[in-house]
Amino acid sequence: MSSGTLATRHPKGPVLRFAPSPNGLLHLGHALSALENEALAAALGGRLLLRIEDIDTTRCRPEFEAAMIEDLAWLGIAFQMPPRRQSEHLPVYRDALARLDGMGLVFASFESRGELKTLAAAREAETGHPWPKDPDGAPLYAGAGASLSGTERQTLIDAGKPHALRLDMTRALARVGRPLTWTEVDAAGTLNRTVEARPEAWGDVVLARKDVGTSYHLSVVTDDAIQNVTHIVRGEDLFRSTAVHRLLQELLELPEPLYRHHRLVLGPDGRKLSKSDQAQGFRILRDRGGGPADIRRSLGFG
Ligand code: GLU
Repeated sequence: MSSGTLATRHPKGPVLRFAPSPNGLLHLGHALSALENEALAAALGGRLLLRIEDIDTTRCRPEFEAAMIEDLAWLGIAFQMPPRRQSEHLPVYRDALARLDGMGLVFASFESRGELKTLAAAREAETGHPWPKDPDGAPLYAGAGASLSGTERQTLIDAGKPHALRLDMTRALARVGRPLTWTEVDAAGTLNRTVEARPEAWGDVVLARKDVGTSYHLSVVTDDAIQNVTHIVRGEDLFRSTAVHRLLQELLELPEPLYRHHRLVLGPDGRKLSKSDQAQGFRILRDRGGGPADIRRSLGFG
């Protein structure tokens, strides 16, 4: 495929989004992602949206959202406002989950994280082989959720037992019935690489928890489709998650966007910046007197 097909593939024009979770202050890693989005939107003549990914109500706070929006404006990035706030659209994600459930692809699991670790260790002892871990380092689901009867499941749910709703990966893959891929674009938006998706690396991935009702994976694919996002630009820490997103897009019959996973900003310890890396906090850099142009330049956008 050549880059000439982009326009015909997206008759309504390119749409990009920056989608931070307001569980801390903006740091340079966010700034890089926002600037990568801004640059590709400008190169393609596309629209740039802001989405607030605040489904984790225990960690996300309105004051972090306000501070992020203020910092992004200070940096001079213009988003189409108002932002979409995921916490205001929970019924939409519930519907998507119900559709997957209707296909027989969802089961409830009632084990705690600790119990799942113990189960994985037991499997290792049984087989003499390491039990596989997902790309985030958690053991693949080794519990019995998928084999519970409808009555057993309902009894536990009615008793208020905490649970997660998981995608039955084997059935989901069988339903799709063919290998999935995605297309990475470069900084100019040119199609440059087809990547083989391997959703099975995630096992029976969590789609929702009892207390939240959705997950990052489910809400992100739903929103990208609702917002007609054509180009997903985000850090390479989410590269492996894209396999799950492609699978959910196929199952839910959602359009396939193009992807660009960009480099990460690393902290002094060589690891990805985290929200607690206050030295890289925007507010601190701002208070030290650096202007937006300095920050843009330091990230390679000057
Ligand atoms: N909300 C995610 C984060 O802050 C990004 C989601 C995405 O771009 O797909 O890491």
